[in-house]
Amino acid sequence: MTEIQARLSELRELGLYRRTRLVSGPQGPNVVLDGRPVLLLCSNNYLGLADHPRVREAAADAAMRWGVGAGASRLVSGTMTVHKRLEQRLAAFKGTESALLFGSGYLANLGIVGAFAGPGEVVFSDELNHASIIDGCRLSRAEVFVYNHGDMGHLAWGLAQAGPRAALIVTESVFSMDGDIAPLEDICDLARRHRVRVVVDEAHATGCQGQGGRGAVAEAGLEREVDAIVGTLGKALGSYGAFAACDDEVAKLLTNTARSLIFSTAPPPPAVAGALAALEVLSEQPRRVERLQANAEVLRGELAREGFDVSGSTTQIVPLIVGDAETAMRVCEAALERGVFAQAIRPPTVPDGTSRLRLAVMSTHTKDELRDAARVLGRAALKAGFRPATAMPVAVAHEALHAEDARAHALFDAEAPDTLPVTVRRAQRTE
Ligand code: PMP
Repeated sequence: MTEIQARLSELRELGLYRRTRLVSGPQGPNVVLDGRPVLLLCSNNYLGLADHPRVREAAADAAMRWGVGAGASRLVSGTMTVHKRLEQRLAAFKGTESALLFGSGYLANLGIVGAFAGPGEVVFSDELNHASIIDGCRLSRAEVFVYNHGDMGHLAWGLAQAGPRAALIVTESVFSMDGDIAPLEDICDLARRHRVRVVVDEAHATGCQGQGGRGAVAEAGLEREVDAIVGTLGKALGSYGAFAACDDEVAKLLTNTARSLIFSTAPPPPAVAGALAALEVLSEQPRRVERLQANAEVLRGELAREGFDVSGSTTQIVPLIVGDAETAMRVCEAALERGVFAQAIRPPTVPDGTSRLRLAVMSTHTKDELRDAARVLGRAALKAGFRPATAMPVAVAHEALHAEDARAHALFDAEAPDTLPVTVRRAQRTE
């Protein structure tokens, strides 16, 4: 057995082996998956804009007008008029002075953390932050204090311990795998008191939360308190790419320091024009956001009737926490057999012991589709040998995590938590 085969077989034994599934056609509420029609319940095309006719047309027109590729980094020849137009539109949408496009949300987080914190300083990162934030922390070479999920007491304690070395708090607003919302006011309050900067990743809030989908930061009126809001174009805005919404000064800092912006090709014009059209549709049809939230409420209600505890989620992301990775996969396959596609999410995307089906609602699902899906998921769980009533509420899952993982309590952890098995982890690291 080669070393690579050994690593792959280790992943299989742990129930962590991944493969991609093939979707035919656009990311609508119903798709053909590996040749079979299913209800799509795990796409981030929350507002149905990825397949909206006006968005498609705008992308096609842009390809004819500006070409397909941007040709270079933003700092070389890659800043095109269409980029500028979208940046202005995004700044207005988020209520900030400026916006700066990045190639993707992953790249944005990778570059932004290091712009605000470096060696000798401390970044404070919620334990459930996305991998791109974790990697951004690593790249910054700052020390990382991983605070317990949404735990302001823990964060305050860490800030006090770090004293003048404290530089940045970074959090998601809507958590991508849990569907809950960070206590943004308290975070900003602590940041003000300790004179540290704040970055909020609104990947799953942009287009989904607040008036007209402006996000959770705008909803809380905290635009002036947050130093950079990260948003993606690849989820509710139906395209690809990302942005930082910030003031002019921070935009200049990022342009000069964010390596993922400086050393990577600018987003392609069709994707940029598609996102512009998506923003236009969103401003004309704000009811899409209301429909998304109403649909999420319907799904949560129906899942609760099936016995699942979904009380942790208040958004369009609804996790069914199953526990071990293999059971999560079995529930996923059993639901697929009955025509519902909700991908199982396993470590390292989520902490060990909290594998789950992460359901993502779209505004284009019908209420009947969501009711039927909840019943299918209830039956799929039973078939996989899992009783919905034993699904862990999010809070309990996190407590279990703390009990098992002392690293989450460590003061200045050299790294954010990483739940990959050691041999695989070693192979994945670049440093
Ligand atoms: N941040 C969060 C919270 C995310 O969930 C994701 C994507 N899943 C990203 C950033 C990365 O965004 P992108 O897909 O645009 O790279």
